Amino acid sequence: MFGSSNSGSPGVALVAMELTIVGCSGSFPGPASPASCYLVTADGFRLLIDLGNGALGALQQYVSPGDIDAVLISHLHADHCIDMCSYQVFRTYHPAGPLPPIPVYGPAAAAARLDLAAGGDSGHPISDAFAFVTLTPGTIEIGPFTVTADHMNHPVETFGFRLEHGDRSIAYSADTGVTDRLVGLAAGADVLLCEASFTDAPGLPANLHLTAREAGEHASRAGVGSLVLTHLVPWNDVDVTLEQAASFSGPLSLAQAGRKV
Ligand SMILES: [Zn+2]
Ligand SMILES: [Zn+2]
Repeated sequence: MFGSSNSGSPGVALVAMELTIVGCSGSFPGPASPASCYLVTADGFRLLIDLGNGALGALQQYVSPGDIDAVLISHLHADHCIDMCSYQVFRTYHPAGPLPPIPVYGPAAAAARLDLAAGGDSGHPISDAFAFVTLTPGTIEIGPFTVTADHMNHPVETFGFRLEHGDRSIAYSADTGVTDRLVGLAAGADVLLCEASFTDAPGLPANLHLTAREAGEHASRAGVGSLVLTHLVPWNDVDVTLEQAASFSGPLSLAQAGRKV
């Protein structure tokens, strides 16, 4: 939980921004966590960031999927978006009747790609369940959040995000290789939720993912308040991941499913 903010307007209390890590497993689900999914709430508004493999199930520990107000999709790799197909089923065939479309902000072609992944032949296109909005770099308002999106360094179009509410801010790297854009997006943020898919090894592919060491370096350059390492790939040793990010001198921790920040 972040510290509470005060709007200064009598009777209008801002409810502090809270981040729940629903899933933080990198590239595929792990034994203790679904793939990427983060629930961010403030002022009663519930925003999902990514909905990767297995996340729709775990999400129900924290909120009814019917109560989500909007979704942000960083990119169209399955470990960040594939449970949107199941989420369509939840909204379309809900016993109370079809739930109204909620906005889904994502890369161009998100609707077409997810419709294909869902089967595409049910007579219920995914665009009936969601109101897709194509993301471009820049700043938009989503509910009570000011959301800035920028391109990251990944083989498909990928957006990192910065969410601001009151005087608090969270930045999220999504999937990325080394990039100054992440430093700019996260500059001065209270929390950077940064991917650390790799640990040091020779011959790592470029322009794909960050090592834990690079995550620490990006966080230091951005001057963030704290660094939470995420997109933790199950075959890595998390103690090594944490140790290699230690060039970041502020509070440093590992994401964990169920953790609230
Ligand atoms: Zn990923
Ligand atoms: Zn990816």
